This record gives sequence, structure tokens and C-alpha cells, in this order.
Amino acid sequence: MSETIFSKILRGEIPCHSVYEDEAVLAFLDINPVSPGHTLVIPKEPTATLDQLSDEAAAAIGRVLPRISRAILAVTGATEFNVLQNNGPGAHQAVFHVHFHIIPKFADGRGLGVGWSAGAIDDGAGLAAKIAAAL
Ligand code: 5GP
Repeated sequence: MSETIFSKILRGEIPCHSVYEDEAVLAFLDINPVSPGHTLVIPKEPTATLDQLSDEAAAAIGRVLPRISRAILAVTGATEFNVLQNNGPGAHQAVFHVHFHIIPKFADGRGLGVGWSAGAIDDGAGLAAKIAAAL
């Protein structure tokens, strides 16, 4: 994986407002928050997209996401939030090191706006079987 701004943050070469760190995970405030408390949770494993992440790094992230979310809610006073995880430039990824956004959603509307154009499912059984077989 190529060098990213998050590699530099992990090495302490550029500063961040860190909120959590363990042997496999770092969490810090987003420099351009969508809403107050917007936090990024990243694995220390240098991987560009989620599909390439090891089971161990994924487990380490999954273990701390709920706890970090609870702390953000407690501090910001928000009671709702989105977890966003982008993979690929067409899917709005700008930093090619896996990261999970935790974005508080406030009653006044501050937070993530989601555009969601849903349709009717087509051949659900066949598609599910193909995905299951590819796992
Ligand atoms: P993406 O669009 O890749 O999912 O989101 C990347 C996020 O990283 C953006 O929300 C952006 O504000 C954040 N970001 C980019 N550079 C820095 C930085 O140097 N420090 C911090 N704390 N956040 C950054």
C-alpha cells in the first residue's frame, strides 16, 4: 500500500487529536468534521480498502467501535450517529488507508446526509447464493 497521510499520523510525524489507541487501532478526530465529535477509527495495519483487511485487524476495529461511539455520544450529547466506511475513489474514499468514520447526528440536522436510491431486489436467491459461494 502506498504512503498516506494516516501513515504519517500513525508514525507520529504529523499531529492528530487522538482519542483512543491500542496495539492494533488508532482513533482521532477528523480534521474537517461533518459534525462535532466526527472521529476516524483506523487499523495500524497498512491496508487501503476494507476487503483487503486481515481478520485480526478487522476484529480489533470491531471490538472498539461501539465503545468509542458511546464515548462520542456521551461527550457531544448526540443520541444518534452514522458509521461510514468508504472504499475506492468512486465511493468517496480520499485517504487510501482503511478508516471508519463515526459521525454524530444531531436533532438540528448536523451530521451525515445520506442519498440512498433504493430499488426492487432482482433475483435475490441467485445473487445471495453466488455471494455465499464466493466467501
Ligand atoms: P474518506 O473520504 O477517505 O472516507 O475520508 C477521509 C477523511 O480523512 C476526511 O473526512 C478528511 O477530513 C480526513 N483527513 C484527511 N487528512 C487528515 C489529517 O491530516 N488529519 C485528520 N485528523 N483527518 C484528516
